[in-house]
Amino acid sequence: MLQEVHVGHKSLADYQSVVARNLVDEIKSLAEGLKGARVLHINATSFGGGVAEILYTLVPLMRDVGLDTEWRVIMAPQEFYEGTKYMHNALQGNATGLDAAQREIYETHNRIAAESLGGSFDFVIVHDPQPLLIRHFAGDQGAKWVWRCHIDTSTPNQDVAEYLLPYITPYDMSIFSMDQYVLSGIQSPTRVILPAIDPLSTKNMALSPEDADYVVNQFGVEPYTPLMLQISRFDPWKDPLGVIDAYRMVKESFATVRLALVGSMATDDPEGWSFFTKTVEHAGDDSDILILTNLNNVGNLEVNAFQSRADVLIQKSTREGFGLTVSEALWKAKPTIGGDVGGIPVQIQDGETGFLVDTSEKCAERAKWILDNPDEAKAMGRAGKEHVRAHFLTPRLLRDYLALLTDLKQ
Ligand code: UDP
Repeated sequence: MLQEVHVGHKSLADYQSVVARNLVDEIKSLAEGLKGARVLHINATSFGGGVAEILYTLVPLMRDVGLDTEWRVIMAPQEFYEGTKYMHNALQGNATGLDAAQREIYETHNRIAAESLGGSFDFVIVHDPQPLLIRHFAGDQGAKWVWRCHIDTSTPNQDVAEYLLPYITPYDMSIFSMDQYVLSGIQSPTRVILPAIDPLSTKNMALSPEDADYVVNQFGVEPYTPLMLQISRFDPWKDPLGVIDAYRMVKESFATVRLALVGSMATDDPEGWSFFTKTVEHAGDDSDILILTNLNNVGNLEVNAFQSRADVLIQKSTREGFGLTVSEALWKAKPTIGGDVGGIPVQIQDGETGFLVDTSEKCAERAKWILDNPDEAKAMGRAGKEHVRAHFLTPRLLRDYLALLTDLKQ
């Protein structure tokens, strides 16, 4: 089944003061040629994770510039998401693929979703592998079909990749976040488009230090306490356990330092709970480690407040498709430490807009440098913000999508 997601209103005009003028002009001119086009986005969840985050901004902005845009999510029983999580992990390189029963569940629910498609569209944009097979079961229905892969598929499990390839090839275009993610063997055109964040969302809008302090204080973080932070799902690839190890090393030099791990629980991520429990166990009884989720009322504004308030922002992933949290952190003009993987190095230029690390030891060393050198760290944070302004804000992503749809229309 497919269920529509309702999104609020956004206006491109509001972004004019944040991004370059010529980008807004370019968007308007591309949109002119696509006026009234019916566009459908399909993904697996309207809550949690980067894809939902992007669609909440992209969909209303596409509407604002004149495209008749809809967003639907594939609805299926829990066993479907358990299988697709295996698939997601396998595409990121895990050895375990899908067994026959899981493949059958996957195919069945894609077929059911395809049958409920209805409507008629000029473009259907399918995000990630969960709803990938809808194109196969629905036929082309007179639309141009785009598969948008958000994950790091640079070293996929070959069984899973080969199983999916015949379903990817009928798409008119497949989009990946980085050159090295483009799956080999796709017979149809591919393109690389980097994701982006919404600078005007409650998660990224400017918050005064006082407001950020006020919000974070409600979770027990006192002003002036050095604060390390990682915002991310409870997922082994995000390495929250490695972040805890790094924090412990920092604490040997900075006794008052605290660590906040904030992770929303996504509805399509059944693995999340068991890894959450592992993280809590790893933290032990250290009351200076705060582990919070959306179930503790940590929503977008709170994420913003934590990022605006923290001294050291971390995304210590060991695999990362792009890592929106990195751009979100840099946008707060904060020095950010990221794993040297996937899309993180395009956001963090080591030593300029933050630091790239591949061990907890290195992460701790960089965190200590940031705490020891607040002025240099501030300058680094400002450079990071400008890097994000130039490359990773939604208007650029909107422009890339409009250019893609324009090309497909020819
Ligand atoms: N996020 C959130 N609350 C949390 C944890 C994550 O709102 O407690 C958001 C985060 O701010 C980001 C998205 O979820 O916008 C995660 O996207 P990212 O690309 O970093 O990783 P993904 O979860 O898609 O692998």
